[in-house]
Amino acid sequence: MTRDNPTTEQLVDLDRRHVWHPFTQMQGWMDEEQVLVIQQAEGFWLQDTDGNRYLDGISSLWCNLHGHRVPEIDAAVREQLDRVAHSTLLGMANPPSIQFAARLATICPGDLNRVFYSDAGATAVEAALKMAFQCQAQRGEAGRTRFATLGQAYHGDTVGSVSLGGIEVMHGVFDPLRFEVVRLPSPHCYRCPLGLQRESCDLACAIEGERILEQHGADLAGLVMEPLVQGAAGIIVHPEGYLRRMSAACRRLGILLVADEVAVGFGRTGTMFACEQEEVVPDLICLAKGISGGYLPLAATVATEAVFEAFLGPFEAYRTFFHGHTYTGNALGCAAGLASLDLLEDLMPALPQKSALLEQLLQDRVAPLAHVGDIRQLGLMVGIELVRDQATREAFPAGDRTGHRVIREARARGVIIRPLGDVVVLMPGPAMAAEELEQLVQVTAEAIAAVTGP
Ligand code: PLP
Repeated sequence: MTRDNPTTEQLVDLDRRHVWHPFTQMQGWMDEEQVLVIQQAEGFWLQDTDGNRYLDGISSLWCNLHGHRVPEIDAAVREQLDRVAHSTLLGMANPPSIQFAARLATICPGDLNRVFYSDAGATAVEAALKMAFQCQAQRGEAGRTRFATLGQAYHGDTVGSVSLGGIEVMHGVFDPLRFEVVRLPSPHCYRCPLGLQRESCDLACAIEGERILEQHGADLAGLVMEPLVQGAAGIIVHPEGYLRRMSAACRRLGILLVADEVAVGFGRTGTMFACEQEEVVPDLICLAKGISGGYLPLAATVATEAVFEAFLGPFEAYRTFFHGHTYTGNALGCAAGLASLDLLEDLMPALPQKSALLEQLLQDRVAPLAHVGDIRQLGLMVGIELVRDQATREAFPAGDRTGHRVIREARARGVIIRPLGDVVVLMPGPAMAAEELEQLVQVTAEAIAAVTGP
């Protein structure tokens, strides 16, 4: 095997022996017949080492916005590469990170102006937790040591983010390591934790959320939540008004609102940021995934002026935010981010039409299938919940791996999608063309029908 030209078989063999894949039962992976090795891509089409092409229906795990090998972003990264790939932000600065921070400040809601860079969604959340905690302490609120979050929350895989997490199968094993949180019921209308119906509930989850925040108010440093859509929980789309109510309660009670827009930010829900749809300005916003157009690992925790000011003072007062990562403010990532934002701003006016097309396609082709229980959509985020019984909402037995079988059928038909349990997720990039959206939905419908029947 030469380094430049290994065969698929050689690569798969080495992968099975050396690469530990995320969220993957490696015993199954090592025995699995087909390992897809993606070698190149063009637009929204991925190509494997055998030349097969696949439509990227999940934006390469929710981060890609404009497709792959986008000339403008490629050029921006190459130009930066001709200058310098990386230099530290500890005691220095670099042009792309300065320009990108200024640009983020202009598009973020309200006076979210102060950009703290890191490199993953989880690190953006981790930084926000520490910032909120320290900010409260330095404002004289040292008793505010706890965080509130939602049922079924997912905010990443570092220990702080896992402490916020509410998905038992992923987070339960780490219980002894996790700090305790105050948990609000998730506003999940299809499977309401309060056992109510949306038509008649009068937003009881918001009333209960407010009650819990009031009960623990004086102890809480912050409420961390995904605005409008809980992605990894199964694309749970929140009822209108819930975010606004939680934001108002936080203001009233002196709790900092941390909006995790890692998944929902950068156009996914139809607006640049989800918070805009309910005119909410959080105290901290966490950004990652789409921030670099899906090109490079980059993240940001953006703070309001008021939060930032709590960290100012003479050195010996030790109000410094003692936190950072080696690749903070990476120049290549920020150059990609600037180029991606130029493209995204041009794309935004087309998003309502694309969301409407997607909704229509889902109604026509997926909704009629017998085992589709719920279709949840906001903008270009879609979750299709498969159930054994539509009337009772009874789930399929977990051991059937229904969602997994559906995505294998889709892959055999040239489309890459991924399930969250039995919720089939579609996350097309905002720049995806109408014909590609149609192909994505058509193949998804065929795959569901192949596994669960028409
Ligand atoms: N927060 C949310 C809402 C997410 O959906 C994710 C990842 O899916 C994360 C945080 C973690 O991001 P990362 O995988 O980049 O650490």
